[in-house]
Amino acid sequence: MSKALHDVFGFSGFRGVQDLVVDRVIHGQSTLAIMPTGAGKSLTYQLPAVLLQGTCVVVSPLIALMHDQLRSARANGIRAATLTSADTDRGATMDAFRAGELDLLYIAPERASQPHFRELLLSARVGLFAIDEAHCVSEWGHDFRPDYRLLRPLLDAFPQVPRLALTATADNHTRSDILAQLGIPDEGLIVAGFDRPNIRYAIRPRESVGRQLKAVVEENPGPGIIYAPTRARVEQLAESLARDTGRRVLPYHAGLPPEVRARNQAAFVASEDMVMVATVAFGMGIDKPDVRFVAHAGIPKSIEGYYQETGRAGRDGDPSVAIMFWGADDFARARQRLSEIEPHRQQSERQRLDSLAGLVETAECRRAVLLRHFGETPAQTCGNCDNCLQPVGVVDVTDVARKLLSA
Ligand code: ADP
Ligand code: MG
Repeated sequence: MSKALHDVFGFSGFRGVQDLVVDRVIHGQSTLAIMPTGAGKSLTYQLPAVLLQGTCVVVSPLIALMHDQLRSARANGIRAATLTSADTDRGATMDAFRAGELDLLYIAPERASQPHFRELLLSARVGLFAIDEAHCVSEWGHDFRPDYRLLRPLLDAFPQVPRLALTATADNHTRSDILAQLGIPDEGLIVAGFDRPNIRYAIRPRESVGRQLKAVVEENPGPGIIYAPTRARVEQLAESLARDTGRRVLPYHAGLPPEVRARNQAAFVASEDMVMVATVAFGMGIDKPDVRFVAHAGIPKSIEGYYQETGRAGRDGDPSVAIMFWGADDFARARQRLSEIEPHRQQSERQRLDSLAGLVETAECRRAVLLRHFGETPAQTCGNCDNCLQPVGVVDVTDVARKLLSA
């Protein structure tokens, strides 16, 4: 294992739980690995793909992500291909797969239900099924995709092939659901630590968000990401922050032409001081270790979303900042939207929002609340969040107590 890690990937050692996961998988044991963003989930199927007989079939929800993965796998000399509606060389890929000439084959989940795809798998040799972003299989997850439900019958048609499910974000409920939905035994669960000690968390009421963000940008000279709730807000903030701070600030959202998005993203990845103002469309699959701050101009969708978005800061381990500016109207709007979704999803979405409100309103250590949400038992104080550094609540309570006593 270690030799292949070095020879194929050029890494000197495993990180975190990677070795536990790879060890299970190459011994044919199905596994659900919960590892934070940036922890190196891809390696846990790419390394077995090289070591195992047969091809590792990887289910991934977004074609754009697949292509990034494909490029980096190929750069390491791994024989990899994608099989999607966007590929014109599908015939050649299928031939290579049948001939046993592929280590990795990336597919989108909807392919799983196609009868010819099952036939294709039966005509080739599959060594491992890897299911990336596995929380998509659960309605409790924050990004349910019905296509993921089509995977189970396919997996069950290959009972001897191990399954490796991967996700960064799963609370206890979602975890059990992924295990059940994908038929992975409970003992197959491996959870990596979620703490990101170098990130300083702060959550503040929104006053004048333009001014507040300007201060964040001025105080943090390194690369940063500002998440804004709408495309219009992204455009407007990018413009005003560029003007008011003199920094290089670019927008990113799904409404921009693909070439502009690609250009802005490439500029950000290469930059040592740029600020990207973006919707949540930005960030997935982007590998930039030196992001120094992530700011939220409004609330994220959930604690999972918050953790994932703030987790893009400080992957290099250096001190970084995650700051959110929230308003009561954010929660009011989110609750309003709840009434518009399918009734059977309302309960889980409401719980998600309540958990987020708990994090926003707490006077306790933010990190402790966050880590408990992911099933960990953290220390009561971290010394590196707003509530630990300036325990406002404590002062208020003392004031109230003093008034009561003097009354
Ligand atoms: P995830 O999918 O968990 O967010 P990735 O698989 O994209 O993370 O990996 C994040 C980064 O970490 C990549 O640049 C990858 O090359 C790097 N990486 C993964 N494993 C190791 C390791 N054992 N040693 C050094 N770097 C690693
Ligand atoms: Mg990944």
